[in-house]
Amino acid sequence: MRHDDLFIAGQWVKAHSSKHHDVINPATEELVASVPDADSHDVDTAVASARSAFPAWRDLGADERAHALGRLADEIALRADEMTRLITTENGTPVAESSGAPKHAAAHLRLTAELAPLLSTADDRPNPMAPGHSLVKRVPVGVAALITPWNFPLSLIIIKLAPALLAGCTLVIKPAPETPLATRLLMDCVSAAGIPDGVVNLVTGGVETGQALVEHDDVDKVSFTGSTAAGRHIGAACGQRLRPVTLELGGKSPAIVLDDADPSVIQQNLLKVAMRNTGQTCKACTRLLVPANHYDEYVDLAADVVASVKVGDPFDADTFFGPLVSARQRERVLGYYEIAAAEGAKAVVGGGAATGFTKGYYVEPTVFRDVDNGMRIAQEEIFGPALAVIAYRDIDDAVAIANDSPYGLAATVFSRDLDRAAGVANRLATGNVGINHYGSNAAAPFGGHKDSGLGTEFGAEGLEAYLTYTSIHYQA
Ligand code: NAD
Repeated sequence: MRHDDLFIAGQWVKAHSSKHHDVINPATEELVASVPDADSHDVDTAVASARSAFPAWRDLGADERAHALGRLADEIALRADEMTRLITTENGTPVAESSGAPKHAAAHLRLTAELAPLLSTADDRPNPMAPGHSLVKRVPVGVAALITPWNFPLSLIIIKLAPALLAGCTLVIKPAPETPLATRLLMDCVSAAGIPDGVVNLVTGGVETGQALVEHDDVDKVSFTGSTAAGRHIGAACGQRLRPVTLELGGKSPAIVLDDADPSVIQQNLLKVAMRNTGQTCKACTRLLVPANHYDEYVDLAADVVASVKVGDPFDADTFFGPLVSARQRERVLGYYEIAAAEGAKAVVGGGAATGFTKGYYVEPTVFRDVDNGMRIAQEEIFGPALAVIAYRDIDDAVAIANDSPYGLAATVFSRDLDRAAGVANRLATGNVGINHYGSNAAAPFGGHKDSGLGTEFGAEGLEAYLTYTSIHYQA
C-alpha cells in the first residue's frame, strides 16, 4: 500500500515531499508499503504543530496528562493483534516476541502515568543561607524530537513518548525507515485516545529527515536510540546548539559465567540473554565469558542451546530466530562471520547464510569458539545471532575482559551465590547488570556507559530527561 501522508496536528496530511521509501517484509522480500520520505518543509510543519500545541499541553496538569497516557494504553491494547502483525511484517520479529510488545507498551504507559505526583507536588525549599524560601518548579523542556531504530518498532518509541508526554512536552517522532508501519498505527491510537491535536506528530524518512529534525531551530530536546556512529553526529549537532540530548546507543555486552554457576540456569536463559530478537538487541550479552578449565563444556552447552531452536517463518509461534531486518543487515552480519573465520575463530554452530530459504534475509545463528577478546567480533557490535565464547583464568581476568570494550550497556553474571555475583556486577563498567538472567526493569534507570550512550530512560530518572527547572525565590 502506498501512503502519501504524515501525522501532523492530529490529522493525516499529504506530505510536501514526493519522495517515498519502501517497506519490505524481511521474511518474504515482498513490498509491504511505501511511505513518504519527509523533507525539511514537512519537518518544519511538524515542529510548528508541536510548538503550537505546547502551551496548552504543558498547562493541562500532570494528572490530566497521566489520564491521557492511560487512554493511549487502552487504545494500543485494543489494536494488539494488528500491532503484532505489523511489527512481525516490517521487522521480521518472531510473533513469540512481537505479541508481547503491545502489552509491554500499555504497561509502560500506565507505569509512567504513576509518576505524575512527582510533577504535581509543590517543592518549597527554605533558603539555608539567608532568610526566605524558593519554590522549585519542574517544567517541560518543550518540543522533543524522538528518533528510533527498527529493532523494537513500538517499544523504543513508547519508552520515550511516555515520559515526554507526562512531563508536558510535545513531540515529533521519526521512526526508522525500515519500520514505520507500527508507528503509523500508534498515531491512530493517539487520535483515538483523544490526545490533543499537535501534541504528537509523525514524520517518516531516513537519515536526512532525522538530521532536519535534530538541526531544527525550534526543537528543544532530542532523544535518540540507534547506533553509536549516528549518536556521535547527533550529540555533536545538539552540543553545537546547546540542546539537551539523550543517546541510547550500541553495545557489546558480556555474560560472565562464574565457576559455581548452575548450567541448567544458563541453558534456560542463554537465548534471551544473548540472542533475543534474532540477536538484533542492543543489550544482548554476546560475549560469553567462561572459566578456561570448563571451556569445552560451555561451548557445547551454548552450541546445543542455539541449535535446539527453530529458524523460520516469524509468524510461526514456535520460531525463535526469524530473518534479519534487511538485506543490508544480512550482509553486515555475514561480513562479520567472514571476519571471525579470518581472525581464527571457529563456528561450532552456523557461520553462514541460512540454507533452506528461497526468500528472506536469514542467516545461521552462530556460536564461535576460540575467540580472543581483542578480535573484531568481540569488540564490535554485530547485531545478529552470533555468540562469541571467550575463556578467562580467574575473576580478575573475567572482569578485565568484560570491561575491555568501548561499550558499557549491559552485562549478565551467572552464579549460584547472589552476593558473589553482585560483587562482580559492582566491578563492571556498564549501565545494567542482570543476575542469572537479563531483563531490564521499567522502574529502574536504563542507559549506557562509555560509547553506549548518554543519559537514561525508565523510571523517575527517565522523566527528568524531559524536564528543566525554574526556581522562584521569596524573601522572608
Ligand atoms: P541507526 O543509528 O542507523 O539509525 C537509528 C535512527 O536514527 C533511524 O531512524 C535513522 O534514520 C536515524 N538516523 C541515523 N543517522 C542520523 C543522523 N545523523 N541524524 C538524525 N537521525 C539519524 O541505527 P539502526 O541501525 O537503525 O539501529 C541499530 C542500532 O541501534 C544498534 O547500534 C543498536 O545497538 C542501537 N540500539 C540501542 C538501544 C539502546 O537502548 N541503547 C536500543 C535499541 C537499539
